Amino acid sequence: MFAVGLTGGIGSGKSTVADLFAAHGVPLVDTDLIAHRITAPHGIAMPQIAAEFGASFVAADGSLDRARMRTLVFRDDGARKRLEGITHPLIRAETEREQREAQGPYVIIVVPLLVESGSWKTRVNRVLTVDCSVETQIARVMSRNGFSREQVLAIIARQATREARLAAANDVIDNDNAPLDALKAQVDAQHRVYLSLAGA
Ligand code: ADP
Repeated sequence: MFAVGLTGGIGSGKSTVADLFAAHGVPLVDTDLIAHRITAPHGIAMPQIAAEFGASFVAADGSLDRARMRTLVFRDDGARKRLEGITHPLIRAETEREQREAQGPYVIIVVPLLVESGSWKTRVNRVLTVDCSVETQIARVMSRNGFSREQVLAIIARQATREARLAAANDVIDNDNAPLDALKAQVDAQHRVYLSLAGA
């Protein structure tokens, strides 16, 4: 099925834009939800994670001990790569399964780290970037998550730059100071383009 990879930095408005496409009946595959599910109690990544990192990384309910793993991968890049070596192939496989089962004219795959984690670009027909300024990201995430400016800046510093995401895009939704009806109008127009590209 024709697939659009939807990406953007934290607070750019990916979820908001994805919901506007879903309102047109476009099925969504959310790689963040999948990443969470495979490390939930007895998720499919858990046996490999326990084997690789030890039972101390598995919480009592059989889920990943996220706080402990975060602490480890924050200071140990090799551990982060080993973790991703387990999770990334499973996330890709689950994404492909959901994509095969999706019903609709085309599918939107929400991939926050599309630009950062290499092979996604080749797995979709179009890359759609939701764009806004760094200042807008900061204001939105401070208000949504109650984070400090420094906390948001630290997250942004670990993500691809705005320029890199724009360079990777086939299509761009401008979500800087966009009132909701202007955002909706952009999504409606983009949806018509994707219907046509998908041959629907
Ligand atoms: P992401 O999924 O990229 O992190 P969200 O879609 O969750 O971003 O948007 C971040 C926050 O900003 C949310 O609270 C959302 O409601 C708000 N938001 C997104 N776009 C707009 C907009 N155009 N106008 C006002 N608020 C917005």
